[in-house]
Amino acid sequence: MSCYFCSQNTREIDFRDIETLRKFISVGMKIKPKKKTNLCSFHQRKMSQAVKTAKQLALLPYLPY
Ligand SMILES: [Zn+2]
Repeated sequence: MSCYFCSQNTREIDFRDIETLRKFISVGMKIKPKKKTNLCSFHQRKMSQAVKTAKQLALLPYLPY
């Protein structure tokens, strides 16, 4: 199993790409752990930064309701 973003040749993760980010957050809107996302350390870090930014800008909710 390889990292989703590495396989897409993506280095930077766009926080506006909500559809992609949703793959890596649980139903409770929490960032999934590395074990579940299968991302490399580099992209796991980038992805969690992107999710945090998206939440701050209200592109993603903090809570599922
Ligand atoms: Zn990667």
